[in-house]
Amino acid sequence: MSPPEWTGPYRDRAVVLRTYRLGETSRIVVMLGEAHGLIRCVAKGARKVRNRFGGRLQPATHLNVRLWRGRGDLDTLTSAESVELHPFEHPRLLADKLELFGKAMAMLEAAGHLALERTPNPALYDLLVRGLRSLHTHPSPLIVGAFLWRLAQLEGIAPAPGFCVGCEEPANPVALDLERGGFTCAGCCRGAPLRPETARIIRDSLEGRTAAVLGRTTGQAASEFERLGVRILERHIERPLRALYFVGRVASLPSDASAAV
Ligand SMILES: [Zn+2]
Repeated sequence: MSPPEWTGPYRDRAVVLRTYRLGETSRIVVMLGEAHGLIRCVAKGARKVRNRFGGRLQPATHLNVRLWRGRGDLDTLTSAESVELHPFEHPRLLADKLELFGKAMAMLEAAGHLALERTPNPALYDLLVRGLRSLHTHPSPLIVGAFLWRLAQLEGIAPAPGFCVGCEEPANPVALDLERGGFTCAGCCRGAPLRPETARIIRDSLEGRTAAVLGRTTGQAASEFERLGVRILERHIERPLRALYFVGRVASLPSDASAAV
């Protein structure tokens, strides 16, 4: 990595994406900052019983942070204060904690793959913060799917709704052609088949009607919506989203998705 353009103290608001142990007592923390993009820093002494960060350096925690940027690859975290209640601390969600944790990890992992170091991406930060909040404000089976489709849209890789990439005409989509990155109509019909309900959910999601999407009660369309969002993202980042497989939300890796990895 090239040397930083400047050195010195800075502040940001950030979501913790993941952490690693460093030596006997410290931790490396990877965060998505509103103003600084992907931040990789050292939290010295963070694994001591008494430390200035308390238990705040957990994945999905939303923090006000102060850091120091030196000449190396890793910045130094000097303070971290909570911005809001951690998503897993909401009392009414305790029973669903494991599932909620898996969903949050999937969001953090996907956002982490798209963030660039020392490159601001406030739209990505904002999407992640809203996505994590919605885990308790709109608990819905569609939540991870909605996040992934919006992320794909932000990256510019989401297919155009209502357009067929086969005949290049406006059309009702019946399938999603991952090779060509778009939907296909009944006449062209290439790619993974779509339920009509799934096609409607995707369209609502891509046209910004997220609240309507999350308000739907759906069965198989919910998992299809999520699975296709995962496949679009995985194709783009060229690796599996491991958090989703870990919690078993994607039953099996489709053959064409694994070929794309
Ligand atoms: Zn067509």
